[in-house]
Amino acid sequence: MFVKSRYHVRIKTKRIGSAARDEDVADRQKRLPGFVQEAIEKASLLFIGAGGINSEYGEGTVRKGYGRLTFFDPDLTEYSNLSRQLFFKEDIGKKKGVCIAKNLSRFATCGSVIEGWGYSFQDAVALGHPLDADVVICGVDNNTARVEVSKFFRAKNIPVVFTAVDLMAESGYVFVQEVGKACFGCCFPDCLNNIKIPCRTPAAKDILKTVAGMGMYAIDSLIMDRKRNWNYRLVHIAGFAPDIKTTIEKNPKCPLCE
Ligand SMILES: [Zn+2]
Repeated sequence: MFVKSRYHVRIKTKRIGSAARDEDVADRQKRLPGFVQEAIEKASLLFIGAGGINSEYGEGTVRKGYGRLTFFDPDLTEYSNLSRQLFFKEDIGKKKGVCIAKNLSRFATCGSVIEGWGYSFQDAVALGHPLDADVVICGVDNNTARVEVSKFFRAKNIPVVFTAVDLMAESGYVFVQEVGKACFGCCFPDCLNNIKIPCRTPAAKDILKTVAGMGMYAIDSLIMDRKRNWNYRLVHIAGFAPDIKTTIEKNPKCPLCE
C-alpha cells in the first residue's frame, strides 16, 4: 500500500538480493556476536523528530533492515538543513516527517515499511495514534518534548533512546531509558527548569554521526543480545574534556518518575 498526502506517506520497500544466490545484503552484520537479523526485521521503531539526529538514525537502521520505521515531524525543510539532514533541494518547504520517509526508502535493503507523518508527537497523541513500537528514538531539540516523550512511553513500557548535542555542536549524549529503570528525569533532574527551545544553533554532521552511532548500538542491544554496559554516554568530539560512560540508577529525587 502506498498512501500519499502532504501529511502522510507509507512506503513498503522491496528486499534486495537473494540469500540463496549468495546475495544476502545482511551477511556481514549477521556475523556479529549476538546479532539476530530476524529480530530486527520484526522490530518496529518510532522516531520523534526528523532532523539532524534522526536523519542519522534513520539511514543506519533502515540499512540494517529494521522492519518498520515511523517518523513524526511537523517542521518544513529549509536550505540550512541540507548540509547534514537527509533532504534534497526538492524537499524545501515540505514536511520533514513525510520527506524523510520518502528519501529513506532509497536506503532500504530488507523490505522495511517506512511511514512518515507531517505532524508532531504531541499532535499524534492528541489524534489518538496507536504509537506502539519496540523502541522509540527521541531526536528533538528541546527538553519540553523530551519530558513528554519520557513520561508517555514509560507509561506504555516502551524503551526510549534520547540523543542530543550541545549548543556548540562539540559534545553530545545518548541516554537509554529502559523499562523499569532510570528515566530521562532521573538522568536530568533539572530538565523541567531547562525548557528553552533553541533557535538557529550551530550544528554539524560530525557530532551527529558520532552520537547516533552509539545510539544505534543501543537500539540493537534493546532488540537482541548485543552486550551494553551503559545507559548514558557523553562524547566531546574536540577532546579537551573527558568523555563519560556510566549507568544512571533510578533517582529518588526524579521530577518525572518519583
Ligand atoms: Zn525518573
